[in-house]
Amino acid sequence: MYWGSVRFFKHLIFGIIFLLILIPTIGCAVLGNAYLTLEKEISEKNSSKNTASDIKPEAVYALELNNNLDKMDYQKKYEDLYIKRVIEYKTEMPKTVYLTFDDGPSINTEKILDILKELQVHATFFVIYKNDAKSRAIYKRIVDEGHTLGVHSTCHEYSIIYQSVEAYLDDFATTALLLEEVTGIKPTIFRFPGGSINAYNHTIYQELIAEMLRRGYTYYDWNVASSDTSTNINVDKITNNVINGVHKKEKAIVLMHDSYSKTATVAAIPKIVRNLQVEGYQFANLDNTIKPICFSYIN
Ligand SMILES: [Zn+2]
Repeated sequence: MYWGSVRFFKHLIFGIIFLLILIPTIGCAVLGNAYLTLEKEISEKNSSKNTASDIKPEAVYALELNNNLDKMDYQKKYEDLYIKRVIEYKTEMPKTVYLTFDDGPSINTEKILDILKELQVHATFFVIYKNDAKSRAIYKRIVDEGHTLGVHSTCHEYSIIYQSVEAYLDDFATTALLLEEVTGIKPTIFRFPGGSINAYNHTIYQELIAEMLRRGYTYYDWNVASSDTSTNINVDKITNNVINGVHKKEKAIVLMHDSYSKTATVAAIPKIVRNLQVEGYQFANLDNTIKPICFSYIN
């Protein structure tokens, strides 16, 4: 009789042991397979997600932003107007004042150069385009006497130069190329007429600044205004504006003008320099190794 026999119980025990081994083994195999399938699906999903969100939309986004890439044709203009980028700015001395003069050259530029020579101080001149012999001689004198010659503008008409990035480049190029031809030195720094962000360029300033930086140029705004273009200005007001402004800054880039009518500016320079020198300030000219002061972008 097999049922209830010793042999039956032997087979029963072996059968139970066999099932105890087989069931977990099959379970592990099934779960393992399910895990591998799931992992594969996740990895496929991720790679398709990357393609979708990182590559394709980026190109689409760029096209949407620029609307028409042909608009950036100005990048192909003026192949000579590129400057080697400065990798690291110079460490500056504390209490340094950078006097900057816009809108020259004029007879006042020569007077300012005489004064600076006597005071043994260097400054920066952001000039406009003038191709007569006298003006060419002044550009050269600025460089020869150790000052910095930077580009300001050719026509200095806001409504013309800020019509587009291309219009600005055309204006900039004319003066930059003249200065290089006259002095043999390529200008590396410039100042935007009206400052980098103004009422005339607010629709293009980001694109314009990006283009000038792409070409390697450095632009300088200012953090101290002499206000020498204000009405009813005089020597004392200019002197006080500059000295008080400098006192409030760690580093001062001072906006002044050396155009034909700025006789009060000329007269104020010796007072400004001597008073600040007594207080331990020193004067220097800008170049593209000096960290610029730039107006903040409008939100
Ligand atoms: Zn100007």
